[in-house]
Amino acid sequence: MKLICIGRNYADHITELKNEKPEDPLIFQKPDTSILLKKQPFFIPEFSDNVHYEVEVLVKINRVGKHIQEKFAHKYYNEIGLGIDFTARDLQQKLKEKGEPWEKAKGFDGAAVIGEKWLDKSQFSDLNDINFSLQKNEEVVQQGNTSLMLWKIDEIIAYISSFFTLKIGDVIFTGTPSGVGKVSPNDQLTGFIENDKLFSIHIK
Ligand code: ZN
Repeated sequence: MKLICIGRNYADHITELKNEKPEDPLIFQKPDTSILLKKQPFFIPEFSDNVHYEVEVLVKINRVGKHIQEKFAHKYYNEIGLGIDFTARDLQQKLKEKGEPWEKAKGFDGAAVIGEKWLDKSQFSDLNDINFSLQKNEEVVQQGNTSLMLWKIDEIIAYISSFFTLKIGDVIFTGTPSGVGKVSPNDQLTGFIENDKLFSIHIK
């Protein structure tokens, strides 16, 4: 399975990192080895002094598809989840300056948190109006709503599938809102969709 991530999908996050708004969705992938194993803490890697959390709504693909039209995209997923796209921001900055790919900054072991709990999409009256948030040590640090996404879930699926075949079990990270920040040892990160707790991660 593959993890496909969308970068710069929330205007307020683009502003906070002083990035330019992309003309098309910005896509990158994380290897499956980046998935943080269940019940395991996240270990800050030795090569970074500035690992950031990015809370993101996840979509799990449940059908094989290629060149999926936006109007049919909803048939390719049933479950909505929540995760973290951990990013070694210092390393990413260096790679960006050199025009190099981001893999090392975003694809390292443990860099992808996929909440254990998934929610059936039928429980949402509108997928483009989902509230989600991240708490660090019980204080809210990120708050988002999927209505603020520059590209909505179905548009993302159509776009991705014009380049890559989507397979059962693939997970899409749909981008982070503003409020990203550094993690430190002993932090506890807890993610919510509406009032549902979808993950809680200890940092070491
Ligand atoms: Zn991200």
